[in-house]
Amino acid sequence: MAVESTARMRIPETMRAWALFGPGDLRPVRKPVPRPGPAEVLVKIEAVAICGTDLEILRKGLPAMIEGGSPFNGEHVIGHEYVGTVAALGPAVDEFDVGDRVVVEIHAGCGRCERCRHGAYTSCLNYSYRAKGHRANGFTTDGGFAEYAVNHVNTVFPLPDHIPFDEATLVVTAGTSIYGLDVLGGLIAGESLLVIGPGPIGLMTVACGKALGAEVILAGTREARLRLGRELGADHVVNVRDQPLVEAVRTLTPRGLGVDLVMECSGAPEAVNQAVHCAKRGGRICLAAFSNDLVALDAAHLVRNNLYLYGIRGEGHGATKRGLALMAQGKISGRPFITHRFALDDLPRAIETFEKRIDDAIKVVVTP
Ligand SMILES: [Zn+2]
Ligand SMILES: [Zn+2]
Repeated sequence: MAVESTARMRIPETMRAWALFGPGDLRPVRKPVPRPGPAEVLVKIEAVAICGTDLEILRKGLPAMIEGGSPFNGEHVIGHEYVGTVAALGPAVDEFDVGDRVVVEIHAGCGRCERCRHGAYTSCLNYSYRAKGHRANGFTTDGGFAEYAVNHVNTVFPLPDHIPFDEATLVVTAGTSIYGLDVLGGLIAGESLLVIGPGPIGLMTVACGKALGAEVILAGTREARLRLGRELGADHVVNVRDQPLVEAVRTLTPRGLGVDLVMECSGAPEAVNQAVHCAKRGGRICLAAFSNDLVALDAAHLVRNNLYLYGIRGEGHGATKRGLALMAQGKISGRPFITHRFALDDLPRAIETFEKRIDDAIKVVVTP
């Protein structure tokens, strides 16, 4: 029973965490260990991976403001790709036991808006309104660069024993890839899929695309990343420094018709238009990254060719659970992505390694 199991793990009063004090100003602090409320569990964090979005928040603030103002308040904790062990249960929580190994997803929608009611909780209409029940840990609520975090039970999934904690941090990345493949049609076996941008999400999309039976072309500029893409199963790689992307894709596809599906993961300003021109008539394009500049788009080509253009936010529609299933079955793995490990106390060095891609860093994992 919940009450007995809660007693099994000793929870300290305070914990180590890293808080935002201003743009680029991350400092170690001691914070009270949060207490799980109804429908929540306390997670003792065992590993957390650094993500490009962490750097965006650290330097520029949140994509949507937190209730009550700025995240640069000396308290807000970022970090959203974490895994851990259930340390305590909120009232009436019987979905988990203390000691369970778990992965988390970021977004718990408010549960009361029309988007959340339809399962589109990453598009919650009450985004950032804590009082209305919305949480996005590491974004609008405290995240994983700390020893503990509280999670809504809907954002927690049991992690099988055979997957190490550090590798499991890639489940959130896989959730984003799967969500993108889901909006592209879901049943992608036998479809041709172009992935633009061999960052973590692009590379994971290659792995998930192959696991789901697609023929995959990966495009990028860095040879080492393209090589890794091949190891992850890409059937073809295109270095866009050597060959124009649209031309290369037309050469690689039967009758030069282009690909059925495109996942744009680079955020390069020219990539959206290239994606549109690489797609076969009636094809689908999903943008998982974006440029901060306005992008030029051949809208006439989009309309004349009956193309579909989608944007995704985060890891919606239960995609994290499905990413975890692929990992548990050995169809994808987090291992090839992890290049560096640091202790939580060394977070600034870990972030620098990730940001400057020191020693071609891909995923940098931090452990307490
Ligand atoms: Zn992320
Ligand atoms: Zn909502």
